[in-house]
Amino acid sequence: MKQLEEIKGLGPKTKTTLQKLGIITSEDLLYYYPFRYEVLKKSNIEELKQDDKIVIDGVIENVPSVFHINRRLDKMTFRFMSEGKLLQVVIFNRSFLKNKLLVGETITVIGKYDYKHNTIIANDIHLGPLPKAPRIDPIYHSYGGIGGKQIRSYLLQLFSEPIDVVDYIPEGLSLKYQFMDKERSLKQLHFPTNQNSLKVALLRAKYEELFLFMLKMNYLKKEKQHTNGLKRDISFSDVEEFIKGLPFSLTEDQMTCVKAIFHDLNDMRRMNRLVQGDVGSGKTIVSFVAMYMNHLSGYQSALMAPTEILARQHYKKLLEIFEPYGIEVAVLTGKTKAKEKKEIYDGLKNGTVSIVVGTHALISEAVEYQNLGLVITDEQHRFGVNQRSNLKNKGVTPDILYMSATPIPRTYALTIYGDMDVSNIHTMPNGRLPVITTLKKNEEIREVLESMYQELKSGHQVYVIAPLIEESEKIDLENVNLLEEKMQKAFGKLYKIGVLHGKMPSKEKEEVMLKFEQNEIQILISTTVVEVGVDVANATMMVIFDSERFGLSALHQLRGRVGRSNLQSYCILISDFEKERLSILTKTTDGFEISEEDFKLRGSGDLFGVRQSGEMQFKIADLKKDFSILLRAKEDSEAYILSRKLEENSALKKYIEQAKVLS
Ligand code: ADP
Ligand code: MG
Repeated sequence: MKQLEEIKGLGPKTKTTLQKLGIITSEDLLYYYPFRYEVLKKSNIEELKQDDKIVIDGVIENVPSVFHINRRLDKMTFRFMSEGKLLQVVIFNRSFLKNKLLVGETITVIGKYDYKHNTIIANDIHLGPLPKAPRIDPIYHSYGGIGGKQIRSYLLQLFSEPIDVVDYIPEGLSLKYQFMDKERSLKQLHFPTNQNSLKVALLRAKYEELFLFMLKMNYLKKEKQHTNGLKRDISFSDVEEFIKGLPFSLTEDQMTCVKAIFHDLNDMRRMNRLVQGDVGSGKTIVSFVAMYMNHLSGYQSALMAPTEILARQHYKKLLEIFEPYGIEVAVLTGKTKAKEKKEIYDGLKNGTVSIVVGTHALISEAVEYQNLGLVITDEQHRFGVNQRSNLKNKGVTPDILYMSATPIPRTYALTIYGDMDVSNIHTMPNGRLPVITTLKKNEEIREVLESMYQELKSGHQVYVIAPLIEESEKIDLENVNLLEEKMQKAFGKLYKIGVLHGKMPSKEKEEVMLKFEQNEIQILISTTVVEVGVDVANATMMVIFDSERFGLSALHQLRGRVGRSNLQSYCILISDFEKERLSILTKTTDGFEISEEDFKLRGSGDLFGVRQSGEMQFKIADLKKDFSILLRAKEDSEAYILSRKLEENSALKKYIEQAKVLS
């Protein structure tokens, strides 16, 4: 196969640009797929409505006239006869075609149909009639001056001789599904001959991509399961005793999780489990029970939280639960003072500290554990992949427990969590009433303030979430200050108002949180720092400004801060836009359903509130549309691993080895 250097017209400058697109070898170029295809198929003009897309051929009726609107804009018009219908054609900035558009010639016009004026606003003109079969144009993203035309010319040169690519689909599966062979499929993707072949080629490419991905995930999962974990011999009656001593009894789902974790821990295999459950479903206590079990077997536990506030909150609860048992608990964050830090480091190293909670400070190089046996990551979706693995590697082979309050669509669960066992908490602790959510416009602010007043008057507290503007922390602050002014004006005489934002020193943050927890502050104005985990049961209302700026899942997370007791709670979404999307939240409190909607509406972009990790990006498969292929690929890859054929397949083995290095 030709090297990139051997391709005509691909000079050093282009090569550098291609590199930025991730195209380093000619093989990469073959995998640089069009992002969509445009099908040129003759329109049936009788069926078209105003402004519909039109593709039609016909004969030029008069000499085109050109009008120069300004130096950069010209307009050409002519009459055009198609199947006995006379139409006007208008096209901008194509006056250079004028000499080729001869009266009596047949041409193809592509554009928008202006039915009312019997006109086509064309965006493209091809000389000659439309081909009999629909023509399919692959469309590539253009980048740095390189457009589809160049890409196609490079590819054409590559395809001028047999290409040399690895086919990752095992023969048995290729036969089973009668896949098109890889070379033909690649060629179809770039130079489709007809819609059917393209469809078959796409299916093959998607399957291959998803098969590889699922094979990797399944392999890693198997490997993790086969890694020997720690040997423990916990008796469940001891665990039950501990559970009896908790301030409340566990829900059925919590108990199921506890049992699953108990089995994982006692099992020789290493635990790699995710507990998924809506905000407020009570995941924390499950993790505490896990830590107790781990403690019983003589190991240390580390609980990693995404924010300082949350870490401190967990710490408080840990103390409440574990102090009576004489179990030493410590908190370690970036803000922990040097002296205290040193003491904690020592305690972790010599084993006197049994449980440590913290932020990423826990994964700093300096932290050494005597015998770390369990690592728990709260709100795990917020941590990057690397941070996760850093912490894992601190112990020898600690068991791993993840907790996530972002229920994710099934497709995503399979991919992002494909290498884990998953437990779900579906039900809320008893007595919880679903949060009543309403939608208000900015002009209805009076009503909003009135509702706030009702809650405050009954002795409850209110969160006010300031608009989120990611681009600028400064504007964020201004927004918060402006809101504070508003709230002061409305409530300042009667109630105390506090402000919380990301830029505040953590000590101040803590003070404000503490005051809110102790009801010394009744209205807490905040940016989204409260999103994760904050727990004040007496807060019964949340007002969210500029709600349209948030994803549905993020809003759902936010509103999970209220409704944390048996009091009726409320969430008011303020927005002048996107009523339809936001109203989904007024209809359901099922986080899973909400995440599916979010996924449908916004794609995966900010589903997790974090940038997607590279492993989630597929070149050609689309998780939204290709779920059934994903399921197939999942089953097939599992069966393939079980059949032990992987050992004999050098291409797949090599691929897995690489994936292992990266994971
Ligand atoms: P999340 O799943 O969002 O982390 P938490 O673990 O913070 O939820 O639990 C929310 C609240 O519910 C906490 O105040 C916790 O003490 C309480 N809680 C948890 N489990 C139960 C239960 N089984 N019965 C009553 N209250 C519970
Ligand atoms: Mg939690």
